[in-house]
Amino acid sequence: MDLSIVIPLFNEDESLPELCAWIEKVMHENNYSYEVIMIDDGSTDESWNVIEQLRAKNACIKGIKFQRNYGKSAALNEGFKAAQGDVIITMDADMQDSPDEIPELRRMIVEDGFDMVSGWKKKRYDNTLTKNIPSKLFNAAARGMSKIPLHDFNCGLKSYKKKVIKSIEVYGEMHRYVPVLAKWSGFRKIGEKVVEHRARKYGVTKFGWSRFVNGFLDLMTIFFVGKFGKRPMHFFGLWGSIVFFIGACIWIYLGIAKFAFDAYKMTDRPLFYVGIISLVIGTQLFLTGFIGEMISRNSSERNAYLIEEKAGL
Ligand code: UDP
Ligand code: MG
Repeated sequence: MDLSIVIPLFNEDESLPELCAWIEKVMHENNYSYEVIMIDDGSTDESWNVIEQLRAKNACIKGIKFQRNYGKSAALNEGFKAAQGDVIITMDADMQDSPDEIPELRRMIVEDGFDMVSGWKKKRYDNTLTKNIPSKLFNAAARGMSKIPLHDFNCGLKSYKKKVIKSIEVYGEMHRYVPVLAKWSGFRKIGEKVVEHRARKYGVTKFGWSRFVNGFLDLMTIFFVGKFGKRPMHFFGLWGSIVFFIGACIWIYLGIAKFAFDAYKMTDRPLFYVGIISLVIGTQLFLTGFIGEMISRNSSERNAYLIEEKAGL
C-alpha cells in the first residue's frame, strides 16, 4: 500500500464528507493504493455516523472510535499502530490542511529519502494574538532545544516513513513535538515543505489557553526524557553533588570562623541559611537522581534499542 492517511478528529462532522471527497480525488488522480484512518477521539456530535456512511461508500476509509476524548496525541498513536502504508500522512480533519499537498509530501519521502517531512504553515490563517505569536515563540524554543531547524513543529500535515511511526510513541500532548521524538529515535533526515493553510471552515478550534501551559511542560519533558531519561543520575546526581559541595564549603567556613576566631553569632549571618538550604537541596537532588536511576533500571524498556539493520544474524 502506498499511503496511509491518518486523521485525528474531535467533533468535526461537518468537514468530513468534503475532506474525504477531496482526498479521494487526489488519490485517484495519482493512482495511489491507500487507506484513510479516521480516529474519532470521543466526538459527541455525528462524526462517527458520518465515518460509517463514508466507509459504506469507500472501503479504503477506516475508522477507530475512542470511548472518550483522549486527545490528539492518543488518536495519532492509535492511527500509527493501525497504519499499513509505506508512507504515512497525518492531517487535521478541519480542512485547514489541503490534501493537494499529499503527492509532494509523499515524493519527498520516497524519492528524496527523508525520514519525515513536516509542513510549514508559512502564511497562517489563524488568530494572530492567540495562535500565531505564541506559536512563533514555541517554535523558537523547540528549535533551540532540539536543534532541528523546523519553522513549524506543530503543523498537523506531515509525512513519515513507515518505520519512523512504528518506532515512536506519541502520548500526552506530544503531538507538538513528533519531529523531536523522531530525532531522539535516530531519524535525522527531517525535511520541511511550505504548505497551504486555510481558515477553518466549520466548527471551532479544540485547543484553548491550556495549550500554552501544556505545550511548555511537554517541551521540558521531551528535553529531559530524551537527554536524561535513561541516565537520571547524570543530571540530578551532578547538580545534587555541586549544590551539596557548596553547602559543605559554607559550613566548613562558618565552623572555622566560629571556633577558631569565635567571631560572631553564626545564625545572624545570611550565609548560614544559604549553607543549610544548599545541603538540603543538594541531598534532595541527589536522592531524586538515585530514585530515578532505580526506576529506569527496573523499566522494561531499559534495553530497548532500535536496530536499523543486521547482517548475517
Ligand atoms: N483533535 C483531536 N482530539 C482533541 C483535539 C483535537 O483529535 O482532543 C483534532 C481536531 O479534530 C483536528 C486536529 O486535532 O482534526 C487539530 O485540532 P484544531 O484544528 O482544533 O487545532 P488548531 O488547528 O486550532 O491548532
Ligand atoms: Mg485546525
